[in-house]
Amino acid sequence: MPYDDKDKWDFATRAVRAGHKRSPEGEQSEPIFTTSSFVFDTAEQAAARFAGDDPGNIYSRFTNPTVRTFEERLATLEEGQRCVATGSGMAAIFSTCLATLKAGDHIVSSQSIFGTITVLFNNYLTRFGIETTFVPLTDFDAWKNAIRDNTRLLFLETPSNPLLEVADISALAELAHANKSILVVDNTICTPVLQRPLTLGADVSINSTTKYIDGQGRSIGGAIIGSEALVGNEVFGVIRTCGPAMSPFNAWIAAKGLETLSLRLQAHSASAQFLALWLEQHELVKKVYYTGLASHPQHDLANRQQHGLHGGLLSFELKGSSGQSPDQEKERAWQFCNATEMVSITANLGDTKTILTHPASTTHGRVDPEVRAAAGISDGLLRIAVGLEAVTDIQGDLERGFNAISK
Ligand SMILES: *Cc1c(COP(=O)(O)O)cnc(C)c1O
Repeated sequence: MPYDDKDKWDFATRAVRAGHKRSPEGEQSEPIFTTSSFVFDTAEQAAARFAGDDPGNIYSRFTNPTVRTFEERLATLEEGQRCVATGSGMAAIFSTCLATLKAGDHIVSSQSIFGTITVLFNNYLTRFGIETTFVPLTDFDAWKNAIRDNTRLLFLETPSNPLLEVADISALAELAHANKSILVVDNTICTPVLQRPLTLGADVSINSTTKYIDGQGRSIGGAIIGSEALVGNEVFGVIRTCGPAMSPFNAWIAAKGLETLSLRLQAHSASAQFLALWLEQHELVKKVYYTGLASHPQHDLANRQQHGLHGGLLSFELKGSSGQSPDQEKERAWQFCNATEMVSITANLGDTKTILTHPASTTHGRVDPEVRAAAGISDGLLRIAVGLEAVTDIQGDLERGFNAISK
């Protein structure tokens, strides 16, 4: 079936079928092309390929059929013209910066982004004369006031992790474009099932495929989606020259992951909603952070922006006895974690297996305690990346945690 039919298909169909050009062998499932280079029929054809006159494959750092299958599939789901895959989510973000910025440029970024991206902006891009100003995700005036003459890129992740704050992508896209800047959205937490940033005006959408797109915690990968001019030319140029390409095997995992992504996210979302409602009523819980709750301050915006789905990530704060110090709060949160028997204590997300994380001592452990407290990440905060086990078993396991701290 020609890939050109993709525009006639519904999202679910494109997720299953787009991007696979069946080979003469007639395979039903997408093959993995584990080859470094590609053979030419003649010396003339080799010359034409290298000159760019013949669009076929040359070398897998540039293009590879399995990687292309994944890229075309994700591009249509994100509603972008082009997708370029990378070896990790961080490689996707770094390659986007390298393709769009130069010395003397300035970034305005949400302060609530994946921690390693903060390190990239502060410790590495600064060496090349690129500065970043960090602003609170939901404070539109702060974004506006942070923009300078040399601002070229606005960067955010929505909803944020672990507090699930939501930014209005359309409003920030408008702000970026009024100031000669591009808007880059890290769409890892939502995936195109919940949110399509390009349709809301963003210029680039980025996914770490390590999370929900793989969906089973097996591989590392990333992807950048946007226009032909920006992603197809500028970003692809960086990838083929600098080399952070995705391996064919990981592209195969990610492409197959896209086939079940929609069903999985519906199930992750349903279980997370159930647990959020239960936790909100729990006597040992002070506060629940989940965009699916009517009590969430940006519930309506999230509903609109995320197609009525709220994903698998939620956080909650344990109710402390009055006068508890941060260290005592931490002890209690650890006691909760250690009493569980099924959920995994790790820091990933987007896995079939439920993950329990204590952000203050892990993902946000290197953040200055005062900055962390100001951002709302207390020592009593726990994050759950809700998996696909029976929700009653997840609930029962968390109940072990509550039992341990109620003694
Ligand atoms: C994990 C993650 C990244 C980085 O992706 P890697 O594949 O680990 O390099 C970036 N953004 C978000 C939101 C993430 O969760």
